[in-house]
Amino acid sequence: MLPVLSFVLPVYNERDNVEKILAEIETFYREKLSDRFGLEVLFVDDGSTDGSAQVLKALAGQRDHIQVVVFSRNFGHQAAISAGYKYARGAAVVAMDSDLQHPVAAVEEMIERWQEGCDVVYAVRDSNQVGFFKGLCSRAFYRIFNLLSQTDILPGGADFRLVSRKVVDALNELPERCRFIRGLIPWLGFSSAKVAYTPRPRASGEPKYGFFKSLGLGITALTSFSIAPLRASLVLGALFMLISIVYLVYSTIAWLAGGVLIRGWTSIMALIVLTQGLTLLVFGIQAEYLAKIVMETKRRPEYVVCEVIEQAGADAVEPVSDVGPGEVSGPGGEMPGSSRGAPG
Ligand code: UDP
Ligand code: MG
Repeated sequence: MLPVLSFVLPVYNERDNVEKILAEIETFYREKLSDRFGLEVLFVDDGSTDGSAQVLKALAGQRDHIQVVVFSRNFGHQAAISAGYKYARGAAVVAMDSDLQHPVAAVEEMIERWQEGCDVVYAVRDSNQVGFFKGLCSRAFYRIFNLLSQTDILPGGADFRLVSRKVVDALNELPERCRFIRGLIPWLGFSSAKVAYTPRPRASGEPKYGFFKSLGLGITALTSFSIAPLRASLVLGALFMLISIVYLVYSTIAWLAGGVLIRGWTSIMALIVLTQGLTLLVFGIQAEYLAKIVMETKRRPEYVVCEVIEQAGADAVEPVSDVGPGEVSGPGGEMPGSSRGAPG
């Protein structure tokens, strides 16, 4: 039997995009891969409220190679990709967005690198389509991340990549719940390569990563991969203690010498405000790590699955047949849906 190539696509309110991205994948597969690989397309519906799940279920009913995992609510992009890696069965898994920003054509080169022996192939943006402010924040984030953590991530990497079965298994073994997959994959190691791609504008629908959501992801990423902010608080605390000792010595000497201490009012106020701010900042940083510990110790799953729709013979992923949307492939047409809980 041919080795299977899995495509994992997180979906959050992408009703008008899923059919288009599926058609792209299928065309690409038919033209370039069908003689060498079986195909699996795994959509993870991350609690969409626009009827995306219904569209996906209908598509899965028409084709053997589609699997749909439906979350009970919105758990976030990283959780959706994690679930994709848990459920995918392929010898290699390609994760990409379902809004058509990631061109399927780039996958051809990714497969070549994988066949040459690379276990991870990153697709990296060759141009910045994201707008000035988002681009600026993104560059700043990658700089800070790579400076503070021992794991380096590729700027412009996004979550468009191919990983081999070995990497998927290693990733699925990791016990942590708060996952920043873009960092976990380089952390795992393995040989890697990169392939450039030109992002396209989102086909339709709204981008889901606003400023605050991106900032949240950035903080999760930093606190998962680096304790440098905690160390920085220690260093800052020590520095300010030193400054206060020097100031204390100075004021004592000034007092002994009969100097007019009231003249120091401004500097005292400045110091109070500064140290108060610093204390709060340090508390805030510690609170981020504390929150992470709380979340991890609860041991709640990263996501909850309410439905899994897969083909009847789950192991038999056949090469895609020539069907267009609306047609039904195979006898019986409708594939039976099965339900199971969150994996792990
Ligand atoms: N997405 C998701 N859950 C979310 C937000 C986004 O599954 O809570 C999916 C979304 O449907 C898309 C991908 O993640 O397939 C990337 O999201 P988006 O295009 O909004 O991000 P951007 O390209 O703006 O960074
Ligand atoms: Mg997008």
